[in-house]
Amino acid sequence: MPENVIPVTRFRQANPVLGEGLALPLFDSLGSTVAYTFHGFIILKGSMSSSTTNGPVSTRILIALKKRVPADHWSTWFEHIQFEQIQFENNKLVEGSSATQIKTIQVKVPSTLHSSFLQQRYMSLFEEVLTDEFAVGTPCDISFQVASAAASGISKASPSEELLALNQNLNFDNFITGPSNQLAHAAAQAVADNPGGSYNPFFLHGSVGLGKTHLLQAVAHHLRDTGVKDVITISCASFTNEFISALSSGRIDQFRSRYRRAGALLIDDIQFLCDKERTQEEFFHTFNEIYNQERQVFLTSDAPPSEISGLSERLVSRFRLGLVVQMDPPDLETRMAIIRRKAQQRGFQLPLEVVEVVAHRIRDNIRELEGAVLRIESMSRHENLEINTETVTHTINELMGETSSRIDLRKIESLICEEFMVSSLDLHSPRRTRSIVLPRQVCMYLGRRHTDCSLGEIGQYFGGRDHSTVLHSIDKIRQSILIDSTLQRSVEMVEERLRRI
Ligand code: ADP
Ligand code: MG
Repeated sequence: MPENVIPVTRFRQANPVLGEGLALPLFDSLGSTVAYTFHGFIILKGSMSSSTTNGPVSTRILIALKKRVPADHWSTWFEHIQFEQIQFENNKLVEGSSATQIKTIQVKVPSTLHSSFLQQRYMSLFEEVLTDEFAVGTPCDISFQVASAAASGISKASPSEELLALNQNLNFDNFITGPSNQLAHAAAQAVADNPGGSYNPFFLHGSVGLGKTHLLQAVAHHLRDTGVKDVITISCASFTNEFISALSSGRIDQFRSRYRRAGALLIDDIQFLCDKERTQEEFFHTFNEIYNQERQVFLTSDAPPSEISGLSERLVSRFRLGLVVQMDPPDLETRMAIIRRKAQQRGFQLPLEVVEVVAHRIRDNIRELEGAVLRIESMSRHENLEINTETVTHTINELMGETSSRIDLRKIESLICEEFMVSSLDLHSPRRTRSIVLPRQVCMYLGRRHTDCSLGEIGQYFGGRDHSTVLHSIDKIRQSILIDSTLQRSVEMVEERLRRI
């Protein structure tokens, strides 16, 4: 059989029962609003500069950064950075007792992607950290440089160092299930128990912070513990970086043989393959090799295969060969269970009413729930504040931004009825004609933006629709207003009126 062809007999219809599910809107996973506060031990995995003179300075900067960077960003974006060419005010390259102000600093990063991402998202943090740690008064010149693979030492790192750092806590025992993630959890367990079996590939998608990486790592732990050899767990960004650096340093054969002989291949956030033609091509061959030999492939993504823009058709069809499962935001009870467990794990108990306050306020992202628990811990341990519904509500509002309690779905609905000349009866009805569907979708979109109703509550209000329909509607309007100026004007007008309520 020619290479890269999947035998027809192995071709199964993707997920005949479940289908792919509706696309979740592409939340801006990089823009979480939660402030993360880390207390206790800091385990530093970022690279120190090899220069001994810069060592302590680099370490201080990295420790300060690590405290303020969300854990998932750390492993992807900060793990391989190095600080070099640190120049102090007195023009020396060492930390002198008389002058400790840093004048210039060069950040070496593994790729241009790292460089642009860090500059866009974290430049102000770098500045803040330098100011705090080294009392930089005058503007400090921070430059970013892409390290050549050979010079950076990245290529010398052992393969295991480049893989997704496995976190022992991300295991099945610590994963709390509820209706929104039961299927994903069961499928992940089946994959872990029977790799390369009927759920191959396993494609798990859902919006940010719902536990995809957690399940991916849980499967990886289980496979390793049960003796599966060469389990590769990697983020798609690292896979891409590694491919590019293998290409540029002429080590593509090593790259290929390492990935193609993997006993199981688990890639996180595969949506980052979009528009990267050569990496897609390489991954296609890797995938086929592993799949044809009945070894497990497990991919996570923020959208179902067909909704990942810029992904080649043949990859889309490969991704749909096995089981495609969507993860949904957790319901209230699951959120409460998660909050209690997270607090317990950090050694404190929260009164039930406080758990309720948090679970009501934070609905769509478990990482944000964790952020809230950390914040409450800090309130109690470091600020000596009493933990009650009042103090916690105040803090969560600070964390999440306040939503106006004056605007509710009813008000939105009445403005939409006027603007689109439909009746409220129509909006609540099962009718699916465009003249009704559009205003109903706009209601859902505005409901999400201007109230703190959950997706489920919005769906319930508009005729008992489920939350994935609501998500789909929100996404639809978000995209439509970009191309339809009439719709955009209508939405803006309603929003203007809402602001005046
Ligand atoms: P995603 O990869 O979908 O963005 P993660 O897997 O990184 O989300 O999850 C975000 C955080 O929430 C992690 O710390 C994870 O351990 C936690 N988490 C997610 N789902 C659960 C769950 N069902 N039970 C316990 N913790 C969870
Ligand atoms: Mg993830």
